[in-house]
Amino acid sequence: MLLYLALVAVSLLGNSAAVRVDVDTSKARDLEGFGRQIKKTLEDWYPYLSYLMYSPTFEDVPVINIYFDPDYKRIAYASGNRIVGAVDYYRQNQQGVGSMIHEMVHVIQQYRNTPGWVTEGMADYYRYYRYENRKLSKPTTDNNHTNGYGVTAFFFNWVDQNKPKISGQSMLYWINKDAREGNYKDTIWTRFYRQTVEQVWQEMMRRA
Ligand SMILES: [Zn+2]
Repeated sequence: MLLYLALVAVSLLGNSAAVRVDVDTSKARDLEGFGRQIKKTLEDWYPYLSYLMYSPTFEDVPVINIYFDPDYKRIAYASGNRIVGAVDYYRQNQQGVGSMIHEMVHVIQQYRNTPGWVTEGMADYYRYYRYENRKLSKPTTDNNHTNGYGVTAFFFNWVDQNKPKISGQSMLYWINKDAREGNYKDTIWTRFYRQTVEQVWQEMMRRA
């Protein structure tokens, strides 16, 4: 069984189609070099991240389009297979590859009807714990699981590392699966752990 699962895992990774990342820096020629770096990093990481985030309804993404927009004033966002990055931000932050990984996770998520804290927490989880290999600091008593981003990423990592697997899969697999199928509900926590998500959060705050 284990060997079979390992073979399935390897064949999934082997089959995961490569993505092509097209970067449009026509409105900011000085970002061309950064654009090439983003293209290579995202193309290199897509197979592994889409493998980690696999669920049965995942649809491989053949192309991701990135556009650097001089009129966009925040950092970046993703919509479908398109990522928009703010020219002003990336001019100042050319180490900002991690934020593009976060956006690519949104492209891979294909979530429907999912609370923002789950979506943003997962995007930062894959960014920090899988791509940057960085440990975030423990949330404070002012935080809670619905903060999203790094706070929720810390929580998800703790759950992945400390809570039992269900049918051989991490809780993160089941959350990804339900969110992608448009079925995520907080009742998943009580169903799998007989604890509410708030109780799992409190357990993490005591034990982490
Ligand atoms: Zn995001």
